[in-house]
Amino acid sequence: MPDLMDGVANFRRDVFPGKAGLFARLATHHRPATLFIGCSDARVVPELITQSEPGELFVIRTAGNLVPAHGPAPDGVAASIEYAVAVLGVTGIVVCGHSGCGAMTALAEGHDLSAAPQVAAWLRGAHAAPSRTAPAGSGPAAVAALVRANVSAQLRNLAGHPSVARALAARQLTLHGWVFDIATGTVERLEASDPAGA
Ligand SMILES: [Zn+2]
Repeated sequence: MPDLMDGVANFRRDVFPGKAGLFARLATHHRPATLFIGCSDARVVPELITQSEPGELFVIRTAGNLVPAHGPAPDGVAASIEYAVAVLGVTGIVVCGHSGCGAMTALAEGHDLSAAPQVAAWLRGAHAAPSRTAPAGSGPAAVAALVRANVSAQLRNLAGHPSVARALAARQLTLHGWVFDIATGTVERLEASDPAGA
């Protein structure tokens, strides 16, 4: 593993001094306006692609940017969503899929995930509903279609979380679907839908 402490030293020396005032304020204030739900993929860096400063994005990253449907069992993703919406009062949520997503490729192409049973279960669960609506098949076009369908499905799951549903009903929150293309650095905004009514 590279020595990440080298990066920490560079941050302290070259970056932190210029943002010392910001960090001093953030030390006692946490009021992000946006919850960003993206894939854990190392190539999709929310703060970089949105050029956001520390304190601006509350971030959840999961394999395949999946949002579990609301349920009674304790769930770290659900807890983070609830905290962002009900406690921090974010006014927007972005669910961001991306090109070349390993999770969506595995789903689209039916990869053997027997060596990764937790991944298989995560993708197989109700969270992965898009597989019902996306065209079957392999190859880049099928994966790209599934990436889009997956973002829409996760927005529907998101809307079913009680804190999100309440904020949507009160018109205090908007939901957005994005797809980030790694090769070009572009973001496609998916058509606004009505996840609350889906
Ligand atoms: Zn991914």
